[in-house]
Amino acid sequence: MLVVMQAQATEEQIRAVCERIEKLGLRAHPIPGAARTAIGITGNSGAVDFGTLDSMPGVIDCIPVSKPYKLVSRDVKEENTIVRVPTPSGEVTFGGKAIGVVAGPCAIETREQALTIAQLVKAAGARLFRGGAYKPRTSPYSFQGLGEPGLQILREVRDKFGLGIVTEAIDNESLDLVEKYADVIQIGARNMQNFSLLKRAGHSQKPVLLKRGMSATLDEFLMAAEYIMSEGNYSVILCERGVRTFTDHTRNTLDLSVVPAVQRHSHLPIVVDPSHGTGRRNKVLPLSRAAIAVGADGILVEVHHEPDRALSDGPQSILPEEFTRLIREARDIAAVLGRTIN
Ligand code: PEP
Ligand code: MN
Repeated sequence: MLVVMQAQATEEQIRAVCERIEKLGLRAHPIPGAARTAIGITGNSGAVDFGTLDSMPGVIDCIPVSKPYKLVSRDVKEENTIVRVPTPSGEVTFGGKAIGVVAGPCAIETREQALTIAQLVKAAGARLFRGGAYKPRTSPYSFQGLGEPGLQILREVRDKFGLGIVTEAIDNESLDLVEKYADVIQIGARNMQNFSLLKRAGHSQKPVLLKRGMSATLDEFLMAAEYIMSEGNYSVILCERGVRTFTDHTRNTLDLSVVPAVQRHSHLPIVVDPSHGTGRRNKVLPLSRAAIAVGADGILVEVHHEPDRALSDGPQSILPEEFTRLIREARDIAAVLGRTIN
């Protein structure tokens, strides 16, 4: 359900409507738009009786939202959401004209490894560094990540190079720590429907990068984002990272068609991860170019200076010099679309 306020509605009128909604035992989400504020209502199991809301000062319309997702929907907010990530060297945005780039190893392995790769990706033009301190591995015998010492290494990377940090939380305990160290909290494909984790991320003040589950439909993907937003965190960046199909020439099938599909139904930014999306180093550059061309709001790639010795995802990690080329080509393709790389 959605209450649309008049363009000239005052702060007090908006507050009064929110209070009325809360009095009904529901939750109000004021969402300022370019022309007017809309107030999303969540917490209702059936139709809301709009009788009293409709006649309140400043209200222009009350409309039922037919889609299962509300806050992520373009019905609630027509223009794109720009998620702003403050970093020590300025803001990086997702969803605007500028395209965000996140680069770094799959996992933080050692201090030397992280600092070496950070220096190289920074030199190539990256402003956000990725690397997992908590790794959700398919096998319990695979490297599980360094935990908090890994987060401390990421802090050093942040301080030393001015890079913003994107790193994954795999459960509520790790999220408590990740949000202290990271600029963006990543929720991985395997956790896309970990609803308690999504709710916990919804209470954070930090932006969340939400990866699509490996067999998730568009609706399931958007509903996962709705979980985060319904708890009050509206800074959500969606990430396509490939889905499971019958192919055997790639690890996953990178579903680039989901980018315009998301953009049609949602105002949230969507980035593409061609590393997990293909699982093969030689396919990361071509699919990065395609991701920019299809309209992605960002790229997330795994980079390693010694991929053959990587503790996870070596076969899909590109070399630093390939990353330099990726940035250059991405910039050229972005320019054709009137966009830039930030
Ligand atoms: C990762 O980013 O390293 C990762 C584990 O990704 P995904 O959740 O998409 O598999
Ligand atoms: Mn990985």
